[in-house]
Amino acid sequence: MSARKSSARPLTQRSAAAAKPKPSTRIVLRTRFAQLKGTALKSHAAAVYDELARLYPTAHCELNHRNAYELTVATILSAQCTDKRVNMVTPALFEAYPTSAALAVASLDAVEELVRTTGFFRAKAKSLVGMAQTVMAKHGGEIPASMEDLVVLPGVGRKTANVVLGNAFGINDGVVVDTHVGRLSNRLGFTKATDAVRIERALIPLFARDSWTQLSHLLIWHGRQVCDARSPRCGVCTLRPRCPSAPIHQ
Ligand code: SF4
Repeated sequence: MSARKSSARPLTQRSAAAAKPKPSTRIVLRTRFAQLKGTALKSHAAAVYDELARLYPTAHCELNHRNAYELTVATILSAQCTDKRVNMVTPALFEAYPTSAALAVASLDAVEELVRTTGFFRAKAKSLVGMAQTVMAKHGGEIPASMEDLVVLPGVGRKTANVVLGNAFGINDGVVVDTHVGRLSNRLGFTKATDAVRIERALIPLFARDSWTQLSHLLIWHGRQVCDARSPRCGVCTLRPRCPSAPIHQ
């Protein structure tokens, strides 16, 4: 039996080398910004907010909705799915089930079929019908306007509740932390935390309460348009002079 020797590095080493970003696109932390704390961090946060507000004066929730019921449904469907895809599904869904009362008595099979393309459609259909049934049983068919009542609805977590409170009721109870908000909060030096609850806790004292809903929209819009997860466009980003994650050489 002959065993052929290979000079190649083990697969794990090769994979690690392949996964390493090229120097030209690598994000390098600028140490002069890395330790911002207290009032310096608050000033930094305010300056970032002002610039984002200047860049995106019309930033808004991109899930199409006409009321709190529709926004709750759309936000439940947006888990692990793009807003664009959700917006393709919701017109037919809202036409078939225009209210919590209609959705509460819907057949799971029919709802599954309508939301199939958003992914995890069985779990989402179950959450939607369960949410509507709870809203009928406990809130007279109206989506409740409090964090406490929202987070106990099937399929509704703190993130969804914050979306509904902020965008349907104009209540700033917290900050919506999705993947964009989390990533930009780290890159912009607001927090090193990586879980949504801690990120939200870190953001809350940095920004005025009445800006919390808009803050999420601004970070999401910048995350989608410039500060991409894999390829942030630092070269054209106007936050670059104050961003701790901007490459030093590019
Ligand atoms: S795109 Fe802008 S905000 Fe994102 S890391 Fe680069 S400089 Fe920072």
